[in-house]
Amino acid sequence: MNKQQIAVLHEEGYIKQKEDGYFSVRIVTKAGTLTAQQMICLSEIADKYGRGQIGFTTRQSVEIPWIKEEYISEVKEKIKSAGLITGGTGKKVEPIAACKGTVCSYGLIDTLDLSNRLHERFFARELPGKFKIGIAGCPNNCVTAPIHDLGFMAQKLPRVEEDLCKGCTMCKRNCKANAIEMVEKRAKIDYEKCVQCGQCIKVCPFKAMQTEKEGLAVFIGGKFGRRYRIGDRLETLISIDEAVEITERVIAFYDKNGLPGERLADVVDRLGIDRVKAAVTVKSYL
Ligand code: SF4
Ligand code: SF4
Ligand code: SF4
Repeated sequence: MNKQQIAVLHEEGYIKQKEDGYFSVRIVTKAGTLTAQQMICLSEIADKYGRGQIGFTTRQSVEIPWIKEEYISEVKEKIKSAGLITGGTGKKVEPIAACKGTVCSYGLIDTLDLSNRLHERFFARELPGKFKIGIAGCPNNCVTAPIHDLGFMAQKLPRVEEDLCKGCTMCKRNCKANAIEMVEKRAKIDYEKCVQCGQCIKVCPFKAMQTEKEGLAVFIGGKFGRRYRIGDRLETLISIDEAVEITERVIAFYDKNGLPGERLADVVDRLGIDRVKAAVTVKSYL
């Protein structure tokens, strides 16, 4: 197999191993979810064409190594028949990584739904460099949203309705950030400490802890690897619909301004975050 054929396969998600004649196939998932039947299909592929081994990548993709070159076309057919796709390589929008916020008891949004919407619209779009999107369902931030090119993290800001507060301390006992004090038998929030996880709102038995503001925090220009950069945060929280819109804007900005091979983090450093913010935000976000 010549270099050009190897490069074509790489683009399709069949990655040449260091051992001659073997490839590792990368199967793209939507936020790490597969059906039981798809899992069975992948197990069969690993058993029949590989060495019975399956791995998972940090982008929530599945990798089956040790596929011999001559079996690649058969493997392609099997993967297609399971309704799955391969890829996630190259200078494109990578598989969207999202935490389990849809079912996690801390989850403030349906992370899988947002991930699916972004996947359908942006996955594999060609760009100057690779582009990673991460979605965290709460400030526990299991997906490390700020080190993605574009990161979203759900937050919920509480407010004490003093007239309703009975001083039961339930909120204080459930605040892992130690951001709640009892003052004259009423809950008082220290907003410097509060990480906006919304747990106090959930546990208050008297509806005295209410939602002041909720939505997604947005981080732009994060990166991790040989060099890391924490993404710059927009000043406000946005809605799920706005998250789709802002993704379109950030990607368009990067496509227009990124030099070949340059990551968004480097574009932000080169042009300045203010210019990026001006280009990607609209009034309603502010
Ligand atoms: S980030 Fe929050 S919602 Fe998502 S998995 Fe972690 S704890 Fe659950
Ligand atoms: S849980 Fe509700 S009622 Fe109890 S102290 Fe907190 S805010 Fe007040
Ligand atoms: S939102 Fe979370 S961090 Fe903030 S006060 Fe409530 S429980 Fe504490």
